[in-house]
Amino acid sequence: MSQSWHSMLPENVLQALQTGSHGLGDEEAARRLAAHGPNKLLKNRGHGTLKLLLRQMASPLIYVLLAAGVFAAMMGKGTDALVIFSVVFINTVIGFLQEWGADRTIRGLMDMAPEYAVVKRNGVQKKLRAEELVPGDLVVLQAGDKLSADLRLVQVKSFQCEEAALTGESVPVTKRTVPVDDQAGIGDRYCMAFAGTLVTHGTAEGIVVGTGMQTEIGKISAMLQDTPTPDTPLTKSIAKLGGWITISIILVSLLLFAIATARDYPLADAALSAITLAVAAIPEGLPAVITIASAIGVKRMARRNAIIRHLPAVETLGSTTVICSDKTGTLTKNEMTVTGVWTGKETLEASDIPGIEGENMLPVHQLLIAGTLCNDASTEQTNSGELRVGDPTELALVEAFERTGLDDRELRRQYPRMDELPFDSDKKYMATLHKKPDGGRVLYLKGAPEAVIPLLQTSENFKAVREMAQQYAQKGKRVLAFACMHTDADQIFSGELPTGFQFLGLQAMIDPPRLEVKESIRACQEAGITVKMITGDHPGTAAAIGKELGIADGHQPVFTGADLSTMDAAQYSEAVSSSNIFARVSPEHKLLLVEALQQQGAVVAMTGDGVNDAPALKRANIGVAMGITGTAAAKESADMILTDDNFQSIRAAVEEGRRVYDNLLKSMVFVLPTSVGLGLVTLLAILIFPTVDGHVIRPVQPVQVLWINLITAVSLALPLALEQMEPDIMRRPPRQQQQPMFSKKILLRMFMVALAMALGTIGMFMWEYWAELGLGVVSASAIAEAQTMAVTTMVLFQVVYLVNCRSLTHSVFRLNAFSNPAIYGGILLVLLAQLFFIYNPLMNQLVGSM
Ligand code: ATP
Repeated sequence: MSQSWHSMLPENVLQALQTGSHGLGDEEAARRLAAHGPNKLLKNRGHGTLKLLLRQMASPLIYVLLAAGVFAAMMGKGTDALVIFSVVFINTVIGFLQEWGADRTIRGLMDMAPEYAVVKRNGVQKKLRAEELVPGDLVVLQAGDKLSADLRLVQVKSFQCEEAALTGESVPVTKRTVPVDDQAGIGDRYCMAFAGTLVTHGTAEGIVVGTGMQTEIGKISAMLQDTPTPDTPLTKSIAKLGGWITISIILVSLLLFAIATARDYPLADAALSAITLAVAAIPEGLPAVITIASAIGVKRMARRNAIIRHLPAVETLGSTTVICSDKTGTLTKNEMTVTGVWTGKETLEASDIPGIEGENMLPVHQLLIAGTLCNDASTEQTNSGELRVGDPTELALVEAFERTGLDDRELRRQYPRMDELPFDSDKKYMATLHKKPDGGRVLYLKGAPEAVIPLLQTSENFKAVREMAQQYAQKGKRVLAFACMHTDADQIFSGELPTGFQFLGLQAMIDPPRLEVKESIRACQEAGITVKMITGDHPGTAAAIGKELGIADGHQPVFTGADLSTMDAAQYSEAVSSSNIFARVSPEHKLLLVEALQQQGAVVAMTGDGVNDAPALKRANIGVAMGITGTAAAKESADMILTDDNFQSIRAAVEEGRRVYDNLLKSMVFVLPTSVGLGLVTLLAILIFPTVDGHVIRPVQPVQVLWINLITAVSLALPLALEQMEPDIMRRPPRQQQQPMFSKKILLRMFMVALAMALGTIGMFMWEYWAELGLGVVSASAIAEAQTMAVTTMVLFQVVYLVNCRSLTHSVFRLNAFSNPAIYGGILLVLLAQLFFIYNPLMNQLVGSM
């Protein structure tokens, strides 16, 4: 397959790949699929796994532990060494398993959005999963598509691709069909379009010449490594906090070592105590908890129809303050139905449209014919028969035409399309050129009334058209205007339309609001999030739908893209904050809106579906692309994809984002005092207890500290990541991003808990020790018993504190006691482990419990 397709003529390529202008047959395609395999890139996952395992080992903490183990062995403390090595081993294995599982979940979900391609097979257009493409397939491309195979282009129309993914060049390249030099580099192969690149403009058809690993990007990806899961703002600030904690712990350990030596501790004991303190106080469970909480969040969001593409979005969602949403399809159902038509003279309800009888063609029929010919909806062959596919607006126009009693396919056969100017949401119209049965040509135009009016012949009554459009819009209807022009041109020259069109009429359609969205909008507003509608539709339509959904009260101004274009920065900023409805907005205005809102300190989620929406999606704090109607270009730039295009799923994602953050905070509020408490026990013990005959009296032995650390880190902190949402999660304002992670109140609470744990543990040790001595038990076993009591006390403290950490704002007694069964699983595990610690003879020997 290593032919230089770029230097061959299109017809030779077709011949070489045994295909033609109708594309392949289904059987031949299936045979080729079996021969070439699915069109996808193989990912090198094994490499990532090894890296993850090494990452568990490559932490300063593990080095300290290993050094401590070797040191203990050298000092003849075999048991201590054994325990320390086991801790390292168990920690590594557990950390690896947890992170590996979470990582796979996240990656799996991030890859979940499938890619599609439109191909011609047996002359019929079909939408396939990109994996099913085979060499020889004839692919049909339009602006916004992402290429999923390498193509030799055979037909282009103002076709441009952005090839940054392949060449690093972000300026779009204009494509042609003429062959280029055999030696041309990838960036100069103008007659080729490559997998992984994006169509930024125009339309084209091309023959698949390479799939899967045979594509140019496949060849490169074989050389690339797996990209690691990215850091999130939270992981970064935790890493910073972790660094800070480690340094303070090392300082305190050194201090402890100095005090211990001054108090005549044997050198080995002093060193071991210092190392133990370090190990005990470093919260090693945290990284795993963070990955797992994020993975759980990503998974739950996917279940609620929001797929996260960039991990930091999970947290950012929790602090979102403004959601800018499209209207069509997101707030409304995108189930369009034409309800009324107007021909300039006559107004008709859709149900009153008369059938066409013989040659008797009324103006309303001309209007409906324009709606069907200037239309990209097509008929697809499926297993269950014929299916009409296309944009809902266009499907509605075909349905309205059916009322005439004619067959739309027959109409299209009679008036074959010769050229077209595709719909573009900047221009807000589209045009098609057709050959008439009598041999003449007719150019049809359809679009937003304001976009069509300037192209009409001057004799038309512009005012009446505008007024009628306004009337429909005020009822929340979507209005399209239609016009035609008889011509003798065979092409729409250089993509420019002439003026002088003859007005045919308006068609008004309803697109009912989604009922569930009203509730979601109210929930967002209660959660301190402003919802704004940014739509390409008419201001009247936008205002009517906005009012119905509770986005605006009907008294706020509605600004249009044209209004925004005339404003200076101050006016813009004022408009952005004073209104929630922006209509007839072009993609470039979306970018400016995001920027203006961000300047006011907002954290903005912005939805989009078109190829031109990409810059705004990238710029927004959370770019949200539509899974169903969205172009590949929009999805590529988004942080999150909605699989159902529904606003409700944005609200769900915000809720889940808040929950992930809450749970991470809970895990930290649990882990940190536990670590500090253990550190304090070690430190206070050295300050308080004397050495007796060269023997050190300690409330908790180093190996026991490791024990507590191990069992609690594994079984207690993790269940908090599974905690349910707080009941008021959507009734509090969004978290401010600059806000410190812990409030003063929580810091104080953590310190008090640490102190209580330390004093309680030492107190219990002393109480038990003296009671035992009073009973005449020999000193060594009295100490062992008292230490066992102390360790058990510490563990029980943690169990109680864990339950307390289930909510940072509510008393646990107000929570549903059984909403998170994992908590009880964790507690059960710890209690069993502790019984094992106390009663198992081997444990007694290993860790000196009794
Ligand atoms: P939203 O931005 O909320 O999704 P929208 O679908 O109205 O709303 P665009 O797709 O940018 O936004 O469309 C803008 C306007 O262009 C529409 O209001 C309509 O008047 C016109 N329009 C939409 N689709 C077509 C089409 N297929 N052909 C011609 N004109 C269209």
